[in-house]
Amino acid sequence: MIELGIPPLILQQALQLVALHFRYTVLHTNTIAAKLYTLRCKFRCSNAHPQHTIENRIAKAHSTLMISSTYPGPPSVPRSVTLAKPKNRNSYTTFLKPIVSAEWLSQIRLKYPQSPLPPSGNVSSRQHAHFLLHHLSLCNNLYKLPPYLTMCAHRNPMSLLRLRSQSHQSIPTHMLNIADNQRDAYDSGVCLYCPSGVTCSEIHLILECPATSHVALDLIQLLTTLLYDTCQPDWSTLTTHEQTSLILGDPPSTLSTKFHHV
Ligand SMILES: [Zn+2]
Repeated sequence: MIELGIPPLILQQALQLVALHFRYTVLHTNTIAAKLYTLRCKFRCSNAHPQHTIENRIAKAHSTLMISSTYPGPPSVPRSVTLAKPKNRNSYTTFLKPIVSAEWLSQIRLKYPQSPLPPSGNVSSRQHAHFLLHHLSLCNNLYKLPPYLTMCAHRNPMSLLRLRSQSHQSIPTHMLNIADNQRDAYDSGVCLYCPSGVTCSEIHLILECPATSHVALDLIQLLTTLLYDTCQPDWSTLTTHEQTSLILGDPPSTLSTKFHHV
């Protein structure tokens, strides 16, 4: 789910549980639920306290996100939360997101050590392709959606989302096999338009496939002009990874951020 900016369930739950601890110990300390929580926390270490209680899960969530400095006491109130408008109930969750993102990234790095820098070698999985094409958008915040889903916000991005989640019948990338509920492995998803049985990676579909690559020609022409106008390296000198990354909305790595929006 990294391609859609959705963290693994264990981190998502940890975020919610740590935010609950904040509500019980800082925001709403006078509620019955908060008082019971504080009381039950005192008994948490006794043998009689069941394993899967909310108190134990909250304690575990703190160690998962490695924010145990003030636990089990109330956490210090972050500046962003102090300054937030009272109606903004999610300000603490917003504060926690970079922490979750950092932990999420360290988990991903177990598999792809340099992430989100582009991994080398042939693309072996969807996650690998994602880092290869969007690493610049992912540097600080994994919650961020890839630019091709957000840049046309005035249009409905659902069709793109379906394409990305592989449930678009007319695009033959790694179609979901309904019968046994299994997805093809990335490198066994072959292009249905090419007789040679090549892997239908994003790069193949957008730039190389004789049946589909013409779709991007207009955009390539526009990007070539934009690169020239902003003194960037010429389109023809870019690798296929970089070209696909540009087509999918990531700015060139050498472009100053003030031009990114353009
Ligand atoms: Zn093809």
